[in-house]
Amino acid sequence: MASIQGEWEESLFVDGRFRAASRGTTLEVLDKGNGEALGVVGLAGPADVDEAVAGACRAQREWAERSYVDRAALLRGVAAELERRSALLREVIVRETGSIAGKADYEVGAAVSELLEAAGLAGRPFGELLRSSHSGRISVSERTPLGVVGAITPWNFPLILGMRVIAPALALGNVVVLKPSPETPLSGGLLLAEVFAAVEAPPGIFQVVPGGDDVGRRLVEHPGVAMVHFTGSTRVGREIASSAGKLLKKVSLELGGNNALIIFDDVDIDEAAMIGAWSSFHYQGQTCITAGRHIVQRGVAADYVEQLAKRATAIVVGDPFRDKVGLGPMINSGQLERARSMLEEATRDGARIVAGGTTNGRYFLPTVVAEVRPEMRLWQEEIFAPIAPVLAVEGEDEAVEVANDTDYGLVNSVLSGDPARALRVARRLRAGMVHVNDATPQDEAVAPFGGTGSSGLGGRSGGEANLEEFTERRWLTVATAPPHYPY
Ligand code: NAD
Repeated sequence: MASIQGEWEESLFVDGRFRAASRGTTLEVLDKGNGEALGVVGLAGPADVDEAVAGACRAQREWAERSYVDRAALLRGVAAELERRSALLREVIVRETGSIAGKADYEVGAAVSELLEAAGLAGRPFGELLRSSHSGRISVSERTPLGVVGAITPWNFPLILGMRVIAPALALGNVVVLKPSPETPLSGGLLLAEVFAAVEAPPGIFQVVPGGDDVGRRLVEHPGVAMVHFTGSTRVGREIASSAGKLLKKVSLELGGNNALIIFDDVDIDEAAMIGAWSSFHYQGQTCITAGRHIVQRGVAADYVEQLAKRATAIVVGDPFRDKVGLGPMINSGQLERARSMLEEATRDGARIVAGGTTNGRYFLPTVVAEVRPEMRLWQEEIFAPIAPVLAVEGEDEAVEVANDTDYGLVNSVLSGDPARALRVARRLRAGMVHVNDATPQDEAVAPFGGTGSSGLGGRSGGEANLEEFTERRWLTVATAPPHYPY
C-alpha cells in the first residue's frame, strides 16, 4: 500500500486549488484501528462555505453550457484516475473508517461504476416533446440543472456516498460543494479533490469544505445552494428538512433504517444464517442497510439462532489495517457505548445473548440476541453495531405486521423456498427496497436506492432516478404562427 500524507494544512479545495481554511482550527483524523493520529486537517468555517459557494455559482453556468461530450469525458477521466489511485484509497478508507480491505475495494469499484454510469447519463435525452392544444405550437418539457448542489455525507461509506451525488449532479450540468463527515475528511473529500485536481477539472465545479455541523448548516442555509443532498441520521435529516423547507429549497434525504430480514421455515437454515450474518455484521453493522431485526418463523427459530451464533463466534475481530480480520473497530466510542447500553437494557428486560455481547476497547464482538421483544429499544431503534436481534413469529401475516411496525422504511429481505410466498410478502412490506432470498445490503449504480418514512423523503439515487433528483423541468413553448388575443 502507498503511504499517506499526514498534514492537510491546505484542506479547502476551492476554485480548483487547495488552500488553508480561514480560521485556525484543526481536526485530528484518527486511524480507527489503533486510535492513533492519521493526519491533521484544517477545518472550514461558515465564511469558507460562502467563498466555496460563490466560486461554484461562478463555475456553474459555463459547466452547464458545455457539451455533454465534455462532461462525460471528465467523468470518465475521474474514474480512470480513481482506479489509478485505488491502493492509496484502499489504505485510507481502511484506516479512516476502520473497515476491512474488501469494503474499501467495494467503495472504490462502486465509485468508478457511479462515474461511468453518470457519463452515460450526460448524453441521455433530457426532456419530452409534448402535444399542444395550440395549433402550430412546439411544446417541450426540458430538464435543466438545478445549479449548486450542497452535498453533506456521513462517515460509513465516505467515498461512494459522496460520489453518488457528485457524479450524477455534474453529469447533468450542476456543480457540487461537498462537506464530508469530520470522521472521514480524507476518503470522504480531500482525496477526491486530489483526483479532480489531477485531471484538471474546470475550477469550481467541485469544491470541498471539511468541517463540522456549523459548516453543514451554512451549506443548507446558503442562498446560493439550490439543492441540498444529505446522507446521514434521521435526527439531522429532520433538522435539515425543516431549514430547507423554510427556505423552499429542494432537499434530498437518505437517512437511517431499521431493516428486517424475514426467514420462513422452508429455507436452508445454514444458508439463511450466512445471509443473516452478512446482513447484520458486515462493516460492524454500521450501515443504513444493515439488518437490525431478524424475524424468523417459530419452527426454525431455535435452529437459526444456533447457526447464526456459530457464524458470529467464528468471525475474527481486530485492526483491519494490521491484521487479517473479518470485522474492524467501531467508528468511535459514542457509537460503541450507545449500542452497549441498548444491549444491556434488552438483557435486563429478558433478552438472551447467545453469542458475543462483549466489547474490547474499540471493538464490539458480533452479537446474537434471542428472546427479544418488539417494545425493546434494541428492536425499535437503528443499532449501528454488529448486533443481530432475533424475534420468532407464527407465519406470513405476523411477519409482515412486525416488519412494518417501524417508522423507518429503507430495505427489507425475505427468505423463502416458495417463490410465490416470498414475492407476496415482499410486496406487502413498506420499504423503498426489498430483496428476495438475499441479504439486506445491496446497492447498484443503475438501481433506485432510497427509503420511505423516516428513511427519507422518497427521493432515489441511481440510474434513471438521478435525472429526477438532479434536474428540474422547464416547460418551453415556441409559437410557429402568430397568436391572437382579444386585446
Ligand atoms: P450524522 O447525521 O450525524 O452526520 C451526517 C453528516 O451531517 C456529517 O457530515 C455531519 O457533520 C453533518 N451534520 C450534522 N449535523 C448537521 C446539521 N445540523 N446541519 C448540517 N449538517 C450536519 O450521521 P453519521 O453518524 O455521520 O452517519 C450515520 C447515519 O447515516 C446513520 O443513521 C445511517 O443510517 C445514515 N446513512 C444513511 C444512508 C442512506 O443511504 N440512507 C447511507 C449511509 C448512512
